[in-house]
Amino acid sequence: MTLNTQPTGTPISPSSQDGLTTADTQSKNLKRTTQGSTKGYGLQSGNGSKKPKQKKCKVCKTLFTPNKPLQAVCGVDCSVALGEKRKRLKQAKERRETASADRAKRESLKTRGDWGREAQAVFNKWVRLRDQGMPCISCGRHHMGQVHAGHYLSVGARPELRFEPLNVHLQCAPCNTYLSGNSILYRQSLIERIGLEKVEWLEGPHKWNGYSIDDLKAIKAKYSALARELEKSRG
Ligand SMILES: [Zn+2]
Ligand SMILES: [Zn+2]
Repeated sequence: MTLNTQPTGTPISPSSQDGLTTADTQSKNLKRTTQGSTKGYGLQSGNGSKKPKQKKCKVCKTLFTPNKPLQAVCGVDCSVALGEKRKRLKQAKERRETASADRAKRESLKTRGDWGREAQAVFNKWVRLRDQGMPCISCGRHHMGQVHAGHYLSVGARPELRFEPLNVHLQCAPCNTYLSGNSILYRQSLIERIGLEKVEWLEGPHKWNGYSIDDLKAIKAKYSALARELEKSRG
């Protein structure tokens, strides 16, 4: 059983609805009035005559008096210009993000073999720069044509020496391509260049656990930095 004394269907008067006394209602109205007055932009409480502060337009840099809070520009033209600038910046940012996502995707699709080839290309470039001006390690000629970075012990036979600086030297294209590295002569010159001990170390057994993708990435980064340095130092 309900204690509501109002007959059903009778509209409830505002004062009886929220149960406010006259004093309560007055104070509520007073609050509303106060809130209303502080909402007026630029009006400081107690001083209705103070003018809104001037601002510098974000686009044309002239001073203006804002009509609204957070107004950043002086008028329609500058507002349009600002909108266009923001749009251009947003589009440029989106393009950068797309390019970076594409690059990340391409990198993630690379196999260990891909990373190995890239690391080898960069390492070989560094060897050619390091040995620039030197004769072919095998035939001793100052070859005018193409020069390669030639492995003394081949990548197939000794993968652990694939990126070993002592194992790779400037070689002319004919020696590298047609004479299987010309390895007897290679060995003789190599002894002259680095000494028998190091040559025998190359030929000796090595502990090796293979290259991880991270190893290959690190090799690529290292030799690309070293090659850049050499190029810069030579102008
Ligand atoms: Zn402006
Ligand atoms: Zn040669």
